Amino acid sequence: MEHVAEHKAMFLLRGKGVSKGVVIGRAIIMDDADLEIPHYHISETEVEAECERLEHAIKCVYDELETLQRELPHDAPKELGPLLNVHSLLVSDPLLAHDCKVLIREHSYNAEWALSAQGQNLEQKFAAMEDVYLRERALDIRQVIELVINELLGGGNKPIEFAAKLSVASSTIVIARDITPADMVRMRTAQFAGFVTDVGGPTSHTAIVARSIGVPAVVGSVNARHMIHDHDLLIIDGETGGIVVNPSAEVLRFYQEKEQKLLADKSLLWNKRKLAPLSLDGEQVTVLGNIENPEEAEEVLKSGGQGIGLYRTEFLFMGNRDGLPTEDEQYDAYASVLKQMQGKPVTIRTLDIGSDKSLQGELSRAVNPALGLRAVRYCLAKPDMFMTQLKALLRAAVHGHLKILVPMVAHRHEIATVKKMLSEAANQLRQESKEFSEDYELGVMVEIPAMAVVIDMVLDDVDFVSIGTNDLIQYMLAIDRVDSDVADLFDPLHPAVLRIIAHVIKAGIKKKKPVSICGEMAGDSLYTRLLLGLGLREFSMTAKHIPEIKYIIRQSHVGLITSKVKKAIKKNPRIDLDGSGFIVEPSATQSS
Ligand code: PEP
Ligand code: MG
Repeated sequence: MEHVAEHKAMFLLRGKGVSKGVVIGRAIIMDDADLEIPHYHISETEVEAECERLEHAIKCVYDELETLQRELPHDAPKELGPLLNVHSLLVSDPLLAHDCKVLIREHSYNAEWALSAQGQNLEQKFAAMEDVYLRERALDIRQVIELVINELLGGGNKPIEFAAKLSVASSTIVIARDITPADMVRMRTAQFAGFVTDVGGPTSHTAIVARSIGVPAVVGSVNARHMIHDHDLLIIDGETGGIVVNPSAEVLRFYQEKEQKLLADKSLLWNKRKLAPLSLDGEQVTVLGNIENPEEAEEVLKSGGQGIGLYRTEFLFMGNRDGLPTEDEQYDAYASVLKQMQGKPVTIRTLDIGSDKSLQGELSRAVNPALGLRAVRYCLAKPDMFMTQLKALLRAAVHGHLKILVPMVAHRHEIATVKKMLSEAANQLRQESKEFSEDYELGVMVEIPAMAVVIDMVLDDVDFVSIGTNDLIQYMLAIDRVDSDVADLFDPLHPAVLRIIAHVIKAGIKKKKPVSICGEMAGDSLYTRLLLGLGLREFSMTAKHIPEIKYIIRQSHVGLITSKVKKAIKKNPRIDLDGSGFIVEPSATQSS
């Protein structure tokens, strides 16, 4: 869309960039007025009616959230279901209604006042929490309380009216105080190119959804809604968090060129996504997709993926509202992926629950969940649950090339136990006369440093390994991956990290066992050349990164890169990369 610079004064705002990309568009303010909350005292005779009014509003909001979840379209971002579910759970928590009723009965508050007072109490409790992720959940409480207050005020369905306004213009940037997951679902059919919110942080649900639908977004830009007006021309940079309001002609031209270049690059990559990732000097590389539910397999194929390198099965367990998924439910999900991939390799990871992910209604009691009963440890502590998953996997193996991947393995005896359980699963299926196959490969995730160090001793026990750099870096550098206070110390280029990755790859080559990387590092184009130079030949990532990584591989001369990387690893105290992922010579670093 062509934009003409105007003569309004240009100014800059700042927030947190949480979903990459540059977008130029017109502002549309979603809710310019703050919610006016009436505060008044009710008489004693009105108390019960007021409590009922509250109950009714809570029920209406709960019913609507449930309907939205039930009717969630197939192509909606996968995160929306669980996020709506969090809101249903919060609004239906009996304590919410109970505590508000206490305020109505004991202080004669009207229902809206009781809700906002209770909301503030809860928000303060969350705000005092040490864990950043939990702290940001205060936003969910506020969103839910506001939904109920809006219902009490007969507020109508603002997002739907708003969506109608949006669908006429394509390059619009939504400006809102906050956007709830329910708003997102209601606005799905509308077109918008990006958004800015007053509140929110990098792990807020708004940020998660923005990333999953791939629109640039800036959150936590305090007062953006009051400073920006409907139809203002805006530039938002979802990486740096910069917002330019009413840009001058020069600034606009600069960003238009940047936006055009990004779009052109994207379409070039997309057109070539099906080409084999063969390097300039003929090295065969494999590029696979990471998925979290069976529906995403299609996207991996469309993006040029050569198979599935990581299917995180925990989402099947976490999203299940009726307890653990049954053997049949699991079989259906796994078989569906294997069938869709038609003989291409499908790596299914056994349940990795605990730490940052937990089952419905189950909160980790561990002092430090990242070091607690997580992943394979959790599975071995619940053998019945694990056996169900293993049986479902063996039944699904009939439909294609199955690779079973076990997360968080630290000890060889854990591998031995899993193997024993796999043969027990086969025995049980035989006795039950169910069709299954034992034609699968077994591998482990290398994400605990101890496993990486002794990998040469473990490779004989398995068919392949996959390096989980997200956790490997977390444990190597003692950086909690969900704690934003230490996020800037999460450093994939730390020499210890590169050394350990190089060690695992080398051991795999020596023992002729395939090594892949399925952590975020594999899908970040900055590291592609370096990883090729370290000997990596199998990359697995979210579908959207596949075209770019394949393109870089095809542009690389692996032989030349390898000798450069080897030299740099030996010589440089630390490897630094330029923006395209080329090694920066130490002299250049020092002089700068
Ligand atoms: C990893 O740790 O790198 C990984 C791929 O697993 P997850 O992110 O699911 O822990
Ligand atoms: Mg991991």
